[in-house]
Amino acid sequence: MSLSSPPEAAEWLAPPPDEPIDRIADRLFEGGSIPVDVERLVRDRIDVDVVDWPFGVDALLIWHNGVPSRVLIRNRPVNYARRVRMTFAHELAHIVIPWHVGYGPESCTSDVSDSLEDNYVRTQENEARNFAGRLLLPYSELARAASGVSLQAFLDNLDRFEASAWATTLRLTQILRSGFIFGGNFTDSSQLDVLRTPGTRSVSLGEAQRSAVDEGTFTVGGRDVQWFQLTDAEVFAPSQDPRKPSEIIKSILFDVYPAKTTEERDGIFYSTQGMLGAALSQGVFDTPDALLRQARHRLKTGVEREIRSHVDWDAYVLKTVENRARKLGLL
Ligand SMILES: [Zn+2]
Repeated sequence: MSLSSPPEAAEWLAPPPDEPIDRIADRLFEGGSIPVDVERLVRDRIDVDVVDWPFGVDALLIWHNGVPSRVLIRNRPVNYARRVRMTFAHELAHIVIPWHVGYGPESCTSDVSDSLEDNYVRTQENEARNFAGRLLLPYSELARAASGVSLQAFLDNLDRFEASAWATTLRLTQILRSGFIFGGNFTDSSQLDVLRTPGTRSVSLGEAQRSAVDEGTFTVGGRDVQWFQLTDAEVFAPSQDPRKPSEIIKSILFDVYPAKTTEERDGIFYSTQGMLGAALSQGVFDTPDALLRQARHRLKTGVEREIRSHVDWDAYVLKTVENRARKLGLL
């Protein structure tokens, strides 16, 4: 990769997920257009009534003998259009996911996690919310949109999917690789909500801002979302160092800390090895590049700068990544 051309957004997409609900959502969308006509998909399957009511839930699904028979959607003003789309997608989940079974009239809340008490209900509700994002923002369409454009251009283009800012950002945390943090005001509360991709260091927005290699803002449904990328684009190339990673790091520590005792150096040795080992076992890795980026990202703050600036540090990281990549069958 040449330094003059920044990586395209597609570089940062995680491999296509293949959970059962991904397959169901993909099948429903197949051949469809963006924005997904989710209301049509529901009305083709079940009677829909749009009703005014005074209480807080978005929809009521009526089950008859274990089969969804009718859905009531709360009548909302036009500025709720995206939330209503989420509601339709959510209800569709209950209708098409075979293991969602009725337990009487069910009230559904489409946006932002709620705090239902019953575990079984909560599991179905979470699944319906996740399904909604998968249907309204299909992986295949996101991958197409990410091809050949910068991250910022990709993110700026997400508004046309007509999902809510919260659902869009949640979806981004499912399809992007580790190292991304998003901040947005999704619930109209006084504080920003923070979402991150799996395997990303848990840091505040302020710290994300300080250590970001790239950042920006995009707007979905009229709401601004800040994004921070903490992982550099790096391409794996094997080290020519003939030593084992453990030998390399031991000699680095000896150079950097000649005055420390053996026990002190051993302590740093084990914590460094443990940190790198943990980083390379958390997440989905489909290429050695993905492993290397994750390693760099996690070691950036956990290891002293003197160690990281040693001439053999790269060899240590690369050899460790290479070993892990071989174990995973990636090399
Ligand atoms: Zn529901």
